[in-house]
Amino acid sequence: MPRPRVFVSRVIPDAGLIPLREHCDVEVWPHNRAPSRDELIAACRDKDALVCLLTEKIDAAVLAAIPSVKIVANVAVGFDNLDVPAATAAGVVMSNTPGVLDETTADLAFALLMCAGRRLGEAERLMRSGTWTGWGIMQLMGQDINHATLGIVGFGRIGRALARRAAGFAMSVQYTDAVPAPADVAAGLNARFVDMDELLKTSDFVSLHVPLLPSTHHLIDAKAFAKMKKTAVLINTSRGPVVEEAALAAALRDGTIAAAGLDVYEHEPNISPELAALENVVLLPHIGSASVATRGKMAEIAARNVIAYFAGEAPPTALNPEVFERRAKG
Ligand code: NAD
Repeated sequence: MPRPRVFVSRVIPDAGLIPLREHCDVEVWPHNRAPSRDELIAACRDKDALVCLLTEKIDAAVLAAIPSVKIVANVAVGFDNLDVPAATAAGVVMSNTPGVLDETTADLAFALLMCAGRRLGEAERLMRSGTWTGWGIMQLMGQDINHATLGIVGFGRIGRALARRAAGFAMSVQYTDAVPAPADVAAGLNARFVDMDELLKTSDFVSLHVPLLPSTHHLIDAKAFAKMKKTAVLINTSRGPVVEEAALAAALRDGTIAAAGLDVYEHEPNISPELAALENVVLLPHIGSASVATRGKMAEIAARNVIAYFAGEAPPTALNPEVFERRAKG
């Protein structure tokens, strides 16, 4: 049997490339930018599989243009860039990388929470400006993290990992979710279920961990900011469009809320100039899962899905496993 031909849409860690190269003929996009839609289609024309990143939108039209591709392995847990129903209809398996980045992303969310709460971005800029005049009792006063109330929106893998970190800071944890967690899980994390309104009204820190879906698009808008405490800090490590960015900039500028820490943006890689001009927001370039170990594990899982598929085994983290099962039976 000929070796499967795979297109990888960016250089990924060796933990993924080495096993892929052992089993497949691999072409890697060599540039330090995402391929355009046309470039991706051209590169996939003669391929059996695609390993892609969240910057590649794989919708029905792209799938129709690359009919030789049988599996699309996303190197990310969020898969709002993939049209899974269209892939299922086209008989294409899609996979993501759940479970290996929860702790790393929760670390970053907590780092952002501390950074935005204690105004570390502003403090660092002050030091670098050469204008610091020395210790000042009124200088750069922020919000306490210890004993504050943390509101977690989306209590899945990453939301729960964040709750574990909050325990070390004696935070009071409350959460909201479309599906409340089992009572023993919530009790184990000392987390109380509240509705969205109560969470917004009573939290000192609001951290977002929902997937991007039609139901979560602009979940946090001007109305939501109006409900939050003036001292509240918003953290977003989920997906940019979960927050209405223009409303966030207005809320930060007008003092509707105190601060924000962001890893993701509504129109990546662009950020609104209003946000960039504000002191009370910490801005990171979508690095939630960016530890050496975790990015390696993500690349490896994507590779394992492709390798399993062509070995006739179920891809371990398929989003539409029924497509593989159908093929195996047929
Ligand atoms: P998960 O599926 O384990 O948890 C998501 C939770 O959100 C679930 O409990 C679900 O019930 C809940 N939810 C869904 N729709 C909701 C709604 N309308 N209202 C309230 N709750 C709702 O996902 P996860 O692994 O914890 O990841 C969450 C998201 O974080 C991913 O989808 C991804 O977009 C994002 N993410 C970002 C980075 C980064 O680099 N910044 C890294 C990893 C994941």
